[in-house]
Amino acid sequence: MNKIGLKPGTRLYRASASALKIAIRAAEAAGFPRFPYAVRIESTNLCNARCINCTRDIMTRSTGVMEMGLFKKIVDECAENDVGVIHLHNFGEPFLDRRVFDKIRYIRDRGIKTRLFTNLSIFSREAAAELVETGLSRIKISIDGADRETFEAIRRGLKYDKVVENIETLLDEKKRRGSKLPKVGLVFVETHENRGQTRDFKQKWKGRVDSIHIMKYHNWGGSHHADRGTDMRAMPCLRIWRTFTILYNGEAALCCMDYDGRVKLGDVTKNTIREIFKGELLKKIKSWHLSGRFDRIPICGRCEARR
Ligand code: SF4
Repeated sequence: MNKIGLKPGTRLYRASASALKIAIRAAEAAGFPRFPYAVRIESTNLCNARCINCTRDIMTRSTGVMEMGLFKKIVDECAENDVGVIHLHNFGEPFLDRRVFDKIRYIRDRGIKTRLFTNLSIFSREAAAELVETGLSRIKISIDGADRETFEAIRRGLKYDKVVENIETLLDEKKRRGSKLPKVGLVFVETHENRGQTRDFKQKWKGRVDSIHIMKYHNWGGSHHADRGTDMRAMPCLRIWRTFTILYNGEAALCCMDYDGRVKLGDVTKNTIREIFKGELLKKIKSWHLSGRFDRIPICGRCEARR
């Protein structure tokens, strides 16, 4: 059974996959989607943690911070095309970018919702006040443990007490300012190391934050534990129709699983998002998804995020 509640290979699963493909083809024939709903901008791929389930140790590309000129060009195009949301994160810790607050304000001033995914280890009372002032729509904080020992064994290099204190500070600062934003969500990725802790985790945070997500660990586009045996999954991955991922240097990667930019769709320093999104390479990848030839794309074949 997968996360949509249907078992791959069953009649109902096959019928659902066919219906989805028909709907996608009809939308494409009508020219949709014209632009991605969500654009993910990697403000930086630097990180201060060494989490045990991360692919950082096998990432080969360079690290850096997206420069402001490129960032503004991307956001301006998103604003012109009524993008639904900008995720100001990808493969890195956004608070390592010294201009992160300026970047959030720039997105806000163009009327676009912003989301940020963080480990919230680099934070302070001043940062909390500034963050609330920016009008950030939603912040998601990774905290994969209900106690210090488990958390620090998974999120190596980070301190549990400090992260908890930072969450409390952010919640307090929102309250003091009477602000509903940012919505605060906690994300707990269930792994072998923290199995059995989700109940305690929910109990600790329930009613204090806006959302709690318990997620299954995925294999990073097949880079980790890639052997699934016979694969009956046939659903096209909607990420390639809905989202667009831009690495810190302007290269467009296939999706958020493509931590190393192995499937380069293009480069927004040379082309627009729209040109790349409607370009030949992505068109070909979409056709492979619609015809079930997932193995034609190096990272999709064994990806656990596919249904
Ligand atoms: S199948 Fe996986 S790697 Fe391929 S586009 Fe979807 S999420 Fe990305």
